[in-house]
Amino acid sequence: MARVFAVASAKGGVGKTTTTANLGVILAETGADVVVIDSDIGMANLGAALGIESPPTTLHDVLNGTAKASEATYEGPGGVYVVPGDTALSSYASADPEKLPSVLRTHSQADYVLLDVGAGVSHETSLPLSLADDVLLVSTPERDALRDTEKTRQLTEQLGGTVAGAVVTRTDASTPVSELATGTLAATVLASIPEDEAVRDSLAVGEPLSTYAPNSPAAAAYRELVAELTDID
Ligand code: ADP
Ligand code: MG
Repeated sequence: MARVFAVASAKGGVGKTTTTANLGVILAETGADVVVIDSDIGMANLGAALGIESPPTTLHDVLNGTAKASEATYEGPGGVYVVPGDTALSSYASADPEKLPSVLRTHSQADYVLLDVGAGVSHETSLPLSLADDVLLVSTPERDALRDTEKTRQLTEQLGGTVAGAVVTRTDASTPVSELATGTLAATVLASIPEDEAVRDSLAVGEPLSTYAPNSPAAAAYRELVAELTDID
């Protein structure tokens, strides 16, 4: 059975998609069978982050009942499998998030499935939390972001889910990472991803950090996150 992680925070723009994409690729590079799914059905951008632009079939086609999950699965960088969403807002209305479990069943033979969760607190952002074995909380160090991310921790617990820990992004040397996360989030810090311009540049060209800037500080920090996660297996 695949181990399913939801990469989540109620706050937008904190690095959930960046974390899903880079974690997925680095795990795949270790030889694992990894599927990343864009469950942010309102603001799909995971495919683009991994160089998959305008795919003919998307998660939205699966969620509206016109395609099979296997038809919306593409091989991406490092051998990671990607289930991208449709970036056109017009597809959103007919996508039924209740069909997400069937996508997970299709990929149950994988070693890892990562769900890139949308921002906000709603049925469609809660569902992935309840489908995951573990939730990875992602937050920048700002107080507002931490408070919104804390709501995702609460929601996970209300749904009977498990928080694996927190990934604090866009940090600098003076960020009191552990203090912030244990204080506001009440979660173990699994990784601190430094502010790094290679992140923005790699997303702009649709390449993961491991090929675009393998020696960048952010790439190294994501490799450490993978080591942490594979340790707690
Ligand atoms: P979310 O999925 O939570 O909305 P994204 O992963 O799309 O967030 O990240 C939002 C933006 O933040 C990205 O476009 C990127 O430019 C920036 N970003 C994320 N992580 C970092 C980082 N470690 N260093 C610099 N910029 C970052
Ligand atoms: Mg995102």
